[in-house]
Formats: sequence, C-alpha cells, structure tokens
Amino acid sequence: MTSSSALPPAFPPESWIKVLPQGLYVEPGNFFVDPVRPAERAVITHGHADHARPGNIKVLATPDTLAIMRARYGDGAGSSLQPLPYGERLRIGEVDVRFVPAGHVLGSAQAVLEYRGCRIVVSGDYKRRSDPTCAPFEPVPCDVFVTEATFGLPVFRHPPDGREIARLLHSVELFPERSHVVGAYALGKCQRVIALIRRAGYDKPIFLHGAHIPLCNLYRELGVDLGELVPATGLKKDAFVGGIVMAPPSAVADRWARRLPDPVICMASGWMTVRQRARQRGVELPLVISDHADWDELCQTIEDVGAPELWVTHGREEALVHHATGRGIRARALALVGFDEEGQGELPDVEHPPTHDANPGTKPGLGQGALL
Ligand SMILES: [Zn+2]
Ligand SMILES: [Zn+2]
Repeated sequence: MTSSSALPPAFPPESWIKVLPQGLYVEPGNFFVDPVRPAERAVITHGHADHARPGNIKVLATPDTLAIMRARYGDGAGSSLQPLPYGERLRIGEVDVRFVPAGHVLGSAQAVLEYRGCRIVVSGDYKRRSDPTCAPFEPVPCDVFVTEATFGLPVFRHPPDGREIARLLHSVELFPERSHVVGAYALGKCQRVIALIRRAGYDKPIFLHGAHIPLCNLYRELGVDLGELVPATGLKKDAFVGGIVMAPPSAVADRWARRLPDPVICMASGWMTVRQRARQRGVELPLVISDHADWDELCQTIEDVGAPELWVTHGREEALVHHATGRGIRARALALVGFDEEGQGELPDVEHPPTHDANPGTKPGLGQGALL
C-alpha cells in the first residue's frame, strides 16, 4: 500500500484497472467488475439489475448474490457461477480478489482487488446504516476507493429509518379504515422495509404484490426473517382494511392500487427527499428510506477508508470529487456508462434512476424539485 500522500503512486492504478465501454476492466486478471455488456469473466458486486446483468460466461459473486441472479435470470445468470464467500481470497490471473460486505442488499459486496501491492476497492453500491436484511458495510483501507454517488450532494441527508417506519405505523393507526400501500423496489428495499416494520413491533400479516413474492421467498430461504407474508392476489377488498401492502413503485399509483380500500400511497426511497418527485408520483406518505449512502455517509466512508485516491461513479460525481479534492485526495469522476443513463423501466429495482428522470437537464444540481 502506498502512504496517504496526494502524490501519484509509482505504480498507477489506472495502468491495470481501466474504464472500457463494457465497464471497469481489470487487465492483469482479465475480468470486468459489474460489466454492462456480457463478458467472458465478470465479478459482480450485487444482484441489482444495473450491476448484475445476464449473459456473462464466468461469474464470480457472493453465494447470496448468485442465488439472487439465479432466481432472476435462471440459466441466463451465467454459464459458470463461482461463489466466493465474504473474506475468502481468490487469485484471478495475477489479481487477488476478495469480497467484503457493502451493507446495500443481501449478498452485496465490495470487491477488494490487489495487484503488485496496490489495493483498489470497488464498493458497488453501499450504505452505512444498519439493515436487518444484510451484513454491515466494512471499511477497508486502500490505495484507491471506487465509490458510488447516487446521493452525492450535501442536500441529501436521510433521516433515521426508524423514524420513517414510525411515521408509517402512526398513519396505519390513524386511518384504520384505509389500507397502506408501500412502493418499494423488489430487491432489498421491500425486504428491508418489512424487516424494519417487524423490528418496530408490527406483527400482523403484510400483504405482497405478486412481483414481490419471489425475492421475499428467496430472502427467507437465505435466512432473513420477514414474519407472516400474504400474497395480495385473489383477496377481497375487505381483507386489506387497516393493512399494509408492499408493491413495486410502478404499481402504487396505478390501477392495481385502486382495488385496495382507500389506499394511502406510500413510497420508500431516498428520492422522497425531493418533494416534487413524491407529488409527481401521487405519493401521500413519502418515506425517506434508502439503500444508498447519503452525503454524510459518503464523506464518512471516504475518511474511514483513508484512500489517497478516489474514483467516483454513478450519480452526482462532481460535488464528491470537489469535497475529496479539498481534503487532499486525488479524486476523479469515472465515466462509466450504463448505471445512470438507462431507462428506469429497464431497471425496475434500482434506486439510482437516470439523472434526466431525477432532474431534467440540470446535472449535477438538484433542480427545481428540491424543497429541503
Ligand atoms: Zn444497487
Ligand atoms: Zn447501482
């Protein structure tokens, strides 16, 4: 490892890890991390659709991420799937690879890559808060830290999730004749919200939109306790009175939700900080619950890993680059494509939607939607 000076290292990391159109390419190991197009060899940080794509030949990921990929893609998950549990080391070509928990969703990992004494950590997506459904993020000291920046602006400060869940449960109490439908992405967010509701002491059955059933079942198979879950399909309207229904974000404001009794439309997302977004989506009760680091968590993590060099990707890179540079860290935005530039419809389960959707034409600012 190099010392923490801002001088370029003698052996520059960009000489062996490169940004190609297909994604982040690790040359001495001949593999990609989270390739956006099918690769011969892929190291996958977690199961979200913008990181784990189908069609790779050889896939290396944590056992839980592989289970998620298999559940979603079947045989398309890859021709050969190799599990690597957290903490175990594997040499690929000339590169040592290990996974360390990222605290983002079940199975999510930071890829720790070492080559000739230089350590690069590709964090994928991460958060620092406790999440009952996955192992907590572990900071790893490194020479280069590759960070996401989904909420990379100082205006994004997520409140404690316990407070958001208390708001939901308070509303359930307040309106016993209504139903509450909570929009949440299918992988990670849905299960985390359920687990947080359980942690707050709510023990009635929770209803599930059909789209949420497979991954909730998988989470339980993998040992995550979610309490009693009931498929919402085929039930009479009355069954939902006073109840909580989990649904994909796309379903909460559409016809599907109208068959529920006077539904309170809720949405669990870091983007609910932006009130205009909540209004646009017809959300009555926005819940700011994110699986991504907020601004403070991003800055704290940069401190914790102590890397003299920072590469910033998908999200609002500029503010974080500026912040890091001010702290004597060499920082740059990675021009990775495929994470924030595809339609949200194609990536139904991710929280970092296209920038143009979040914020039309005003990257990197927050735009007119910000009311904070
Ligand atoms: Zn993700
Ligand atoms: Zn992502």
